[in-house]
Parts: sequence; C-alpha cells; structure tokens
Amino acid sequence: MLKKAKLNIASQLVKSVVNGPGTRYVIWLQGCPFKCPGCFNKKFQPFFNKNLVNIETLAKKILSVEGIEGVTYTGGEPMVQAEPLYYLSSILKKYKRTIVCYTGFTMEELEKHKDPFTRKLISLVDILIDGRFQEDKKAHLVWRGSTNQKVHFLSDVYSDFQPSVHEEHSQMELVIGEKGITYTGTVKEEIINRLNQLINRREIEK
Ligand code: SF4
Repeated sequence: MLKKAKLNIASQLVKSVVNGPGTRYVIWLQGCPFKCPGCFNKKFQPFFNKNLVNIETLAKKILSVEGIEGVTYTGGEPMVQAEPLYYLSSILKKYKRTIVCYTGFTMEELEKHKDPFTRKLISLVDILIDGRFQEDKKAHLVWRGSTNQKVHFLSDVYSDFQPSVHEEHSQMELVIGEKGITYTGTVKEEIINRLNQLINRREIEK
C-alpha cells in the first residue's frame, strides 16, 4: 500500500519559519471542501490532480533537508488525504521529525470521522490547528487567521509554546523563487496590496 500511496500537492516550501514552531518543510494539499469566504489560498480549493507525489520519494526529500525539525500540512484540506499523509508521517516520525497539521474541520468533527486514517494521522500529529477561516472573526494570532481556530498540543514536544499562542502576532514570509513570489503566514492584506503595487511599478524587480 505504502509503495503506491500518492499525495496530491498544491505547493511546497522547503523551509518556512511561519507555519508552526521552528523551521519546517511545508506542504499545501490540493483540494478543500469548505470554500471559506476570504480564504487566502483559493487556488488550492478545487479538487483536481495538481501534482501527484510518491510518498517514499517525498519522505526522502524531506529527510534530506538539513536544519528543519519537521513538516507542516496545510490547505487545501489535509484530512481529505489522511491516508497518504498517515504513511508519510509514519516515515517522518521514525526519523524524529515533528508533525503540524492544519485542518478546516473542528476537533469535534474529526472525532466523528469514519475514515480510520483520520484517527491514525491525528495519532502522529504534534500540533493540530483546527477550524475554518471565518472572516468575521479575522485576527492576526500565532499561526492562525481567525479567533475560532484553535491550537491543540497533542504531544509534549512543543508544550513550551502553549502560553504564547493566544498573543496577537502577525508574521509574513516572502519567498522569491524561479516561479515567482510566494507569501505565507498570517499576512496583512494591506501589506500584500502594497507589495503588489510596488512589484507592478517595478520598484521591486519581478
Ligand atoms: S478551510 Fe482553509 S483552505 Fe479550506 S477554504 Fe477554508 S481557509 Fe481555505
């Protein structure tokens, strides 16, 4: 099963410091059923095969990256791909990498999930950040964009972070690569708009 398992990936970032504790490999999954108004990653909502990646190949790639402490799964909706994510997480855990997982489902909804791989995946997750983005509850908090979203510490690895997650905290990461510019983090719209204006005026070279 593992040898055939594939993950449908929308995007990846080899090193990020704004998607969970420390420096992390970030995987954005393609496809999300929630379609939250104000979603920052609308292009990751449609369900289609964007980039099907073999789990063992991806695990080797992640494990070869120096200076990261783990991986973050974000959306799209990771729980829609719980089975391949469980296989990937099983390999990464053997090598002591930590797992952070975002989901639009609430913890209460996940507890009622019938898919056994949802539970198996959650059993390997160190931090789960749950809940859909709600525009009317928009806020700039540590690792999340609306006040309904909760940070669940499911293992002790990151318990030191527990007191600080309720703080107001806006962090943006801007990555300039061959395929363009990627923004990630709890990004303030006015900052993105200003950056786009500067780029369009070529005050920042594209
Ligand atoms: S759950 Fe997340 S990825 Fe899905 S639509 Fe809502 S904000 Fe976008």
